[in-house]
Amino acid sequence: MDRREADLLIYNSSEVATLAQPHGRPHLGAEMSDAGILPRGAVAVAGGRIAAIGSLEEVRETVIVGPRTRLLDAQERLVTPGLVDAHTHLVFGGSRESEFIQKVVEGLSYEQIVERGGGVPVTVAQTRETRFEDLLQRARVVLRRMLWNGATTVEAKSGYALDTAGELKLLEVIRRLDLDGPVECVPTFFGTHDIPVEYALRRDEYLRLVVEEMIPAVARGGLAQFCDSGTAYPADRTAALYAAAQSHGLGIKVHADEFSSVGGAETAARWNAISAEHCIHSSAAGIEAMASSAVIAVLLPAVPLVHRLPGPADARRFIARGVAVAFGTDFNPSCLVESMQLVMALGCCTMHMSPAESLTAATINAAHAVGRADRVGSLEVGKQADLVVWQVSSHVQLMERLGGNLVSSVIKKGRVCTVFEG
Ligand SMILES: [Zn+2]
Repeated sequence: MDRREADLLIYNSSEVATLAQPHGRPHLGAEMSDAGILPRGAVAVAGGRIAAIGSLEEVRETVIVGPRTRLLDAQERLVTPGLVDAHTHLVFGGSRESEFIQKVVEGLSYEQIVERGGGVPVTVAQTRETRFEDLLQRARVVLRRMLWNGATTVEAKSGYALDTAGELKLLEVIRRLDLDGPVECVPTFFGTHDIPVEYALRRDEYLRLVVEEMIPAVARGGLAQFCDSGTAYPADRTAALYAAAQSHGLGIKVHADEFSSVGGAETAARWNAISAEHCIHSSAAGIEAMASSAVIAVLLPAVPLVHRLPGPADARRFIARGVAVAFGTDFNPSCLVESMQLVMALGCCTMHMSPAESLTAATINAAHAVGRADRVGSLEVGKQADLVVWQVSSHVQLMERLGGNLVSSVIKKGRVCTVFEG
């Protein structure tokens, strides 16, 4: 086979965490402890994809390093796949800063804030009043900061308009963000994020609207890959929602057991959801059901901190039962976390996960949770060249720092997007 000239060669690393494993499914149990470390590895990129990976000698045997090859000296530092944020509510208008005061000074819970007229309904009202261009511009700035922090693929849910035209508008914003790049956005329709005030006394009618009008319109426009469902409706009422999502070719995600155990994990398993998300209060039976149905647990380590909940999901229990754990920021108006680095560090410090497990949850397992593991989440020949070069020399050091930004360079589809000194 003819050797091809590389567009980019990353060399002189301390370690490349490939996250590669031969089975092609999410990493489970002990597999999550294997980050696929290649000491002093090199990576060659051609046509936006990984053309070779291995020692520098092996890579040079596979590709030509010629005059067109850009050389990126990793300066004896860590190289990983681009991070994948598997759970965000990226697009919304307005601000709920007054609730922040209520939370941290007055000590109110989320439920108490809603009773006082705050919470999601406030953002719905503000989002409905925000123009497309303004929603787009705000989300673009957030995505840029997520990229600076190492995320190259971000799931984004609608759910702050809760009417047909508005939900389509939010998904159109997400489509535009994805087209504009460089961060890839995975769109999720979340029409049952909450019940809009005008339907407060007609809850069944709103569910019918979602099932009969919104889901078909979203599918017709090709605007979403997944349909998420919250706890606005009890599990026995949502069958029509999941059935409609499935018949329109949308994968299922479930906001499960965030504030109490409501059978979210079991529901996710019953409907063969790709993921159950939050899972703070998921029952032992629910976790078993998730393991049997290969449902991924998308855990959100920043959420207990911002909502002052008693503790995070019990990641060790999921890992021990053979459930794949993935991570997301849960970026939303009351959880303004843009850094998957922080999320990984919290995975270690608050969930007793090892650095390799945290990295797995933020890369290959998150890629599976958003249905993109065929292209992103690990460094393997043929996959999209999404990489981060860090300012530290090991994946353990990456987890030790809390709250800073250790990115040196971010590469998306083979293109170097950001370079920081340091
Ligand atoms: Zn959420």
